[in-house]
Amino acid sequence: MGVKGFGEAQEGLSSGSLKVLETLVTLQGEGPGSGRPVFLIRLAGCNLACRWCDTPQARSPEAGRARSLSDLLREFEASGLSEVLLTGGEPLLQEGTVVLLQALVSRGARVYLETNGSLPLGPVPQEVIKIMDLKTPSSGMSHQMLYENLRHLTFRDAVKFVIADEEDYLFAREKTFSLRLPSFTEVYFSPAWGEMSPERLARLILRDRLPVRFQVQLHKFLGLP
Ligand code: SF4
Repeated sequence: MGVKGFGEAQEGLSSGSLKVLETLVTLQGEGPGSGRPVFLIRLAGCNLACRWCDTPQARSPEAGRARSLSDLLREFEASGLSEVLLTGGEPLLQEGTVVLLQALVSRGARVYLETNGSLPLGPVPQEVIKIMDLKTPSSGMSHQMLYENLRHLTFRDAVKFVIADEEDYLFAREKTFSLRLPSFTEVYFSPAWGEMSPERLARLILRDRLPVRFQVQLHKFLGLP
């Protein structure tokens, strides 16, 4: 999947579609836009199978229904919001995602992308704020990470570790330092919902004086989708 020129992107826009599980207006639950109202597009289909997946309903491509890109753009513009989040599942599994990202950026939207870290970030427009997972051992998917993606991240973006136990914490701490993550991007440590006590994780971060940002999944606390 390569970055398309403007003409090609326009063509893709009129003919393209995406398998979408749902669209909704909510507060962003995590990452650089945490707490901000956003138009969320949840795409269907994922190439991973994390043990503690918090959106199992989005894993199968069959769970989604085909929506044209122009229809999604219209719905976003009608939402009254200027911020939009593409999440999944794994949004980069579908070629139309990059076309939609380009179209949203060109309309002046503030665009966020949540991605599981296993697919190339190269085709994603630079203006898109990227929140990339670095999967921890408890997920069973840490061997699937594409570490070369890190070169596409800046301080506008973030790496997110979801931490379920002490082993995950030690893994995340080691990667934070060995990859020098805080020298070029934001780093988030987030407790796996129902697995790791938020208080315990906060105390570990403080104990080790880590240059990372603790976060909880705000939408879960608020009971938002
Ligand atoms: S990458 Fe996300 S959607 Fe896919 S299995 Fe893992 S947690 Fe679930």
